[in-house]
Amino acid sequence: MLQIIQLPALEDNYIYLLNDSSTGATAVVDPAEAGPVLAELQRRTWKLTHILNTHHHGDHVGANLELKKLTGCTIVGPRADADRIPGLDVPVGDGDFYAMGSASARVFDVPGHTRGHIAYYFEAAQALFCGDTLFAMGCGRLFEGTPAQMWHSLGKFAALPGATRVYCAHEYTESNGRYALHVEPDNVALTERMVQVRKLRADGRPTVPSTIADELATNPFLRPHSATIQRSVGKSGEDAVSVFAATRAGKDSFRG
Ligand code: ZN
Ligand code: FE
Repeated sequence: MLQIIQLPALEDNYIYLLNDSSTGATAVVDPAEAGPVLAELQRRTWKLTHILNTHHHGDHVGANLELKKLTGCTIVGPRADADRIPGLDVPVGDGDFYAMGSASARVFDVPGHTRGHIAYYFEAAQALFCGDTLFAMGCGRLFEGTPAQMWHSLGKFAALPGATRVYCAHEYTESNGRYALHVEPDNVALTERMVQVRKLRADGRPTVPSTIADELATNPFLRPHSATIQRSVGKSGEDAVSVFAATRAGKDSFRG
């Protein structure tokens, strides 16, 4: 049984603690900062055994060295970015299975946001840790990759079971949703989801995790087949990569 704890950090990051109850193995995904992680470990009397990094950005690896020094944990991260992950012990890449206690994470290479970005999929727990690749109703900015790469990466997630929970690394949902409505105003599922999201945020509650099914129904970056989105971004009848690229570019300049 994998228990998953969600910790808010920095401005709008989420850090995840994963505890495998049968072995006591405990991992932290993308520790932006050490404070909230150490407090939660102490409260639950868990001992940190692993850090799982999705990519090299500071708000994902910021506490790597401090946590490793304090706990002696093993740091797992993208092979393609081995030189940019502080303290990396175990480089992993596409198709690898990494055992965290009795739980097993399948690794996906998902370049686009950064060239070495990876994701961890715990199939038995139906949980996907996707860093800054897929967000609730959004996707990461293309800092080091092409639209074609990112579209291919997102396709790996889109093929997962609909019930898979999407544990992304930021609370960007409400602002993502405003853009989603801008490009697909006639999507009823999207309109309904935004009502829920606004309620949650007004109460100061997280909108993450969502599910793959939620994202397929409402996330414009997974919906280049939508005629409404195609029209909104000026790419009617064009291929998925072109529509995706224009949708991503539109978000970059959207002020809503
Ligand atoms: Zn990032
Ligand atoms: Fe980030």
